[in-house]
Amino acid sequence: MSFSYLSHLSCPRCDRTFSSEEGVLTCLSCGSPLFARYDAQRLRRALAREALSARPRGLWRYHELLPVRDEANIVTLGESFTPIVPLVASGRDMGLGRLFAKDEGRLPSGTFKARGATVGVSRARELGVTKLALPTNGNAGAAWALYAARAGMKATVVMPDSAPTVPRKECVAAGAHLFVTGGTIGDAGRLVGRAAERYGWYDVSTLREPYRLEGKKTMGIEIAEQFGWEVPDVIVYPTGGGAGVIGIHKGLLELRELGWIGDRLPRMVVVQSAGCAPLVRAFEEGRDASEPWPDPATIAFGMRVPKALGDFLILDVVRKTGGTAVAVTDAEILQERAGTVRREGLDVCPEGAAALAGARRLAAAGWLQGDETVLVMNTGSGLKYAEQIDGMGEPLGADDELPDMLSGGV
Ligand SMILES: *Cc1c(COP(=O)(O)O)cnc(C)c1O
Ligand SMILES: [Zn+2]
Repeated sequence: MSFSYLSHLSCPRCDRTFSSEEGVLTCLSCGSPLFARYDAQRLRRALAREALSARPRGLWRYHELLPVRDEANIVTLGESFTPIVPLVASGRDMGLGRLFAKDEGRLPSGTFKARGATVGVSRARELGVTKLALPTNGNAGAAWALYAARAGMKATVVMPDSAPTVPRKECVAAGAHLFVTGGTIGDAGRLVGRAAERYGWYDVSTLREPYRLEGKKTMGIEIAEQFGWEVPDVIVYPTGGGAGVIGIHKGLLELRELGWIGDRLPRMVVVQSAGCAPLVRAFEEGRDASEPWPDPATIAFGMRVPKALGDFLILDVVRKTGGTAVAVTDAEILQERAGTVRREGLDVCPEGAAALAGARRLAAAGWLQGDETVLVMNTGSGLKYAEQIDGMGEPLGADDELPDMLSGGV
């Protein structure tokens, strides 16, 4: 038994293959992101899915399908399974009888970005990396800064100066070198690219190296296992760089190849904000790739990506699975977040709220049927965006009694 069944890297666009041990990061022929590939034939014989249940409930239980060869290189903060929470009241409100949220806010640093960081940092350590750099809208920077700190690596993070406060402070607290700049994550990415080349840093921008995606893929595998090796009818994902959509789908394809799930795959739904919806536009116009979105603006900061490097891969997943793409406004996002925490007690992040608002739209349009199993990804904790909640409580003086209206049982 090997710890990892990683066999090679391959290009999803031109099919060229590369060794996984020589530090190739993107396709040398066509520039596409590369996918890690595994020896499914051998793994199928070596491991039955039932064997997993004896292992700790976290993403490293899928180590055969992850790219780290030596267990000693794993950099972990104890990532656990994230719960799938039934949203009965919200579902009733939308006309959906089987609505669920997978709450990624429970992971270290409070977002699903921890999945990419634990796998990406571990593999980077295995490849001998000591300094890494990434552009981010905030949450990826925070996650990578924390895991880099744990690995004893130096992290350099560049984010837009409009990014939320909490992830900025997390980077600083973890000892990362944090730079903020005007412009978007795309501009930050160009700065990182140039500096990485000059200083020999490992550039871990989304889809610029193959291993971060492998962490995100575990969302798909975990969903399948939690649903008893079935898949939901629809998965709704708040999309920025799109590694989540590509990763979930990749994970499910690998399970299908292993025979661990059946042929049917969930319809993948991309939700974006109306203020930054390049993928929705490309989907609606029937294009294979997206155009950079001018002046992207949304309160759901993790989705503020004007042009995703893997846009052609995301659009392909959406079309192949019979999914769709939908944009929602910031007003809908705020209303959905407020409604969800009041109805369900689940304080979703604005991105998760966007995904729920997308589901609401699709239910109203009849695209989602009332009896379908719909899984919405809540990609992070609402706590990371506490500043977006109005209200700080009503002031009481030292000698004040609580107002009578409270004692009246209101
Ligand atoms: C990064 C991020 C997203 C977007 O995810 P992608 O996989 O990059 O499309 C959504 N929600 C949150 C909270 C994020 O941090
Ligand atoms: Zn290629």
